[in-house]
Amino acid sequence: LKEKIKILESRMPKHYPEVRFLNYVHKKRILITGGAGFVGSHLVDRLMLQGHEVIVVDNFFTGRKLNVEQWIGHMNFELIHHDIINPLYIEVDEIYHLASPASPPHYMKNPVKTIKTNTLGTINILGLARRLGARVLIASTSEVYGDPDIHPQPETYWGHVNPIGPRACYDEGKRISETLAYAYAKQENMSIRVARIFNTYGPRMHMNDGRVVSNFILQALQNDVITVYGSGEQTRSFQFISDLVDGLILLMNSNYTLPVNLGNPIEHTINEFATIIKELVGGRSTIQHVTEVEDDPQRRRPDITRAKTVLNWEPKVPLNEGLQKTVDYFKKELKQFNYSQRS
Ligand code: NAD
Ligand code: UDP
Ligand code: UDP
Repeated sequence: LKEKIKILESRMPKHYPEVRFLNYVHKKRILITGGAGFVGSHLVDRLMLQGHEVIVVDNFFTGRKLNVEQWIGHMNFELIHHDIINPLYIEVDEIYHLASPASPPHYMKNPVKTIKTNTLGTINILGLARRLGARVLIASTSEVYGDPDIHPQPETYWGHVNPIGPRACYDEGKRISETLAYAYAKQENMSIRVARIFNTYGPRMHMNDGRVVSNFILQALQNDVITVYGSGEQTRSFQFISDLVDGLILLMNSNYTLPVNLGNPIEHTINEFATIIKELVGGRSTIQHVTEVEDDPQRRRPDITRAKTVLNWEPKVPLNEGLQKTVDYFKKELKQFNYSQRS
């Protein structure tokens, strides 16, 4: 076997990052739906480096091939262009189900499609997992708590969601995804994991996805006005992408079946956040208050006691360090964008 691994290693072209070669006991075939997106592509990197076989299924609605280009052609990697609202027949051991638009402007652009992805799409992924006996991790969200009247939010809180508001397609979509997962688990004796992910940022976020991190960084880099929606006294808690990836993999491999919050508990008002980014980036931007958005959750901070207890997980990357990496990424993206505009 060692000889075989040596031969395989020697055959891999040099330009791929160095992956571990696992034997059949440890190596899994892992499906990542939405794997060409921001979170998914970082998960792909980590699982590929660990030596697993990774299959990405994505319809490229908000994801892009560029996010996983480093793996295209690698014998452990496969990229399938597919919309999960249609059935999918492949063979895998484990599924990270991430496919869904995630930023408010994206999921509001086509609310019916967002609902179909989170209902029909999730049913297809659970049906696939049922046939295979594969474990599924559902990427849920802090949005299941809506505009919370309990603070910080523990997993036992049932939430405060407007079922007919502009965010409902996503919030209710994710709530039904969770319900489906537990209904399948109970009825079909399946192995389910549910991560309630709080605001996450880092390289490969979409430049134009309208989220606060990408908006503020781009505005600061281009000396534009930094747009704070409403009073700016609403709060969020931001976690860096590598911390989330650690948490997702720990949760998938744990024995814990109830939902687990994954987020950074350090909370900032949006006003503070605007100042932090302005100071980090420098430049001549001014901060301005513009019209507030409808149903904007006013406070959000995860209670991560459960993740600490059952996964021994907590975020490690300080905000300034994570933001600096993100600013560097956006600088590179802008340069490339301006270059391609000119040429
Ligand atoms: P993203 O938009 O970058 O990635 C989502 C991916 O899913 C994209 O590649 C997109 O093309 C794909 N997709 C969407 N609909 C699809 C469909 N019908 N069929 C196949 N592929 C489809 O978003 P992200 O930030 O990487 O989020 C990933 C997951 O994590 C989502 O489920 C999201 O709800 C969840 N989440 C993210 C955050 C965050 O702050 N980023 C917070 C909470 C939850
Ligand atoms: N499904 C799929 N791939 C599979 C198995 C099932 O996409 O390998 C889809 C199938 O189209 C079905 C859904 O998953 O509509 C739910 O499957 P389940 O077995 O729960 O229900 P049923 O097939 O009885 O509708
Ligand atoms: N926000 C803002 N200016 C922007 C974009 C967002 O003030 O240019 C605010 C938004 O109103 C919300 C917070 O920042 O209160 C986080 O918004 P985002 O869309 O990033 O994520 P959400 O947590 O609302 O899904």
